[in-house]
Amino acid sequence: MPEKVKKNEENIEVKEVGKIKFEKIIRSAKIHSPLDSYKLVEQKIEFRKDPLTNHYSRINKLRADRVKQATMPNENYEQNLQSVIENSSKKCFFCPENVEKSTPRFPKELGLGDRIKQGTFTLFPNLFVFSQYHAVGTLGDQHFTPLQDFSPEIWQDAIEGSIKYFKAVNKFDESVKYPSINFNYLPPSASSIIHPHIQIIQDVKPTKYCEILMGRSKQYTKNGSNYWLDLIEAEKEINERFITENNFMAWIATYSPLGKNELTGIVKIPKTDITVFTKEESAELARGISQALKALYIGRGATSVNMAIYIGPINEDHSDSFQINLKIVTRPNLMPNYTGDIGFMELLHFEPIAAATPEDIVESVRGSFNR
Ligand SMILES: [Zn+2]
Repeated sequence: MPEKVKKNEENIEVKEVGKIKFEKIIRSAKIHSPLDSYKLVEQKIEFRKDPLTNHYSRINKLRADRVKQATMPNENYEQNLQSVIENSSKKCFFCPENVEKSTPRFPKELGLGDRIKQGTFTLFPNLFVFSQYHAVGTLGDQHFTPLQDFSPEIWQDAIEGSIKYFKAVNKFDESVKYPSINFNYLPPSASSIIHPHIQIIQDVKPTKYCEILMGRSKQYTKNGSNYWLDLIEAEKEINERFITENNFMAWIATYSPLGKNELTGIVKIPKTDITVFTKEESAELARGISQALKALYIGRGATSVNMAIYIGPINEDHSDSFQINLKIVTRPNLMPNYTGDIGFMELLHFEPIAAATPEDIVESVRGSFNR
């Protein structure tokens, strides 16, 4: 007689605060673990559902120890970092002395001149674009800036410089109204260049993830309120993931994250078009980003990150349903000779970037089948 299998009882936990529903399914897995003399051990897995998008993340707290061992910086890390910085600084196109000699220039039609200069920030077209309007901007005037040392001023220059670009592109072609500001920091986050830089893109349609956020937010207004402001209130009341807020923005650890150590920043002011930000509002956003990166370094040992800022369309006001918001996720530590291939587009916008076309792949692979 086969042993009767006892079903793993589904355990659903729901916390509802106002109209926000935090839902998780908890299941347990059993294994005979070699770490515990092959005794039968149980591990809990949580499937956490995002209250807005309904996507699920899987969390197993036990994995945190394993992740820590693999990601906490050690002596090798410092050594690797120093040699990577040194080697990459010898011929860096993004360093102030080279940026105007070696980087691409904007076409005249945008009326921006060759490049945008805003303090220490220099913005120019990406050399290999994946958006019709895709620009790269250097952060600060140092070849290398550690994650904890990005000052609010560095980010303010970057945000103000980006706004100039967004406005110019939109003025040239009104249909190109969906911007975003993104950051791959160090090679584990898919950045092939050590010199810190942001990537801004602007298209005729929002990225997949931004479209989901805006669409779901719009649906949520059937409740008679704004999801993002409700979320802040709900997280404050539960007080398990809420970090801090001021009049301009709030920070929480994401309930159902897309990546490791994920923080969500929510801009509270009723402006979904970043191009109408005042100088002071850009400064507030910059301060928030600078603090969050530092906190991830100090609190979580983070050394590499991806960030995306989700922004509403230019010249439209969606503040009844949407708020400008951003996500920062941490990535593994730097290793010699390794660059990740999952960057902000794949991880935080749900849009994979491919290099070779399927047609080219067929050419080179077909002949090798059935050999
Ligand atoms: Zn450089």
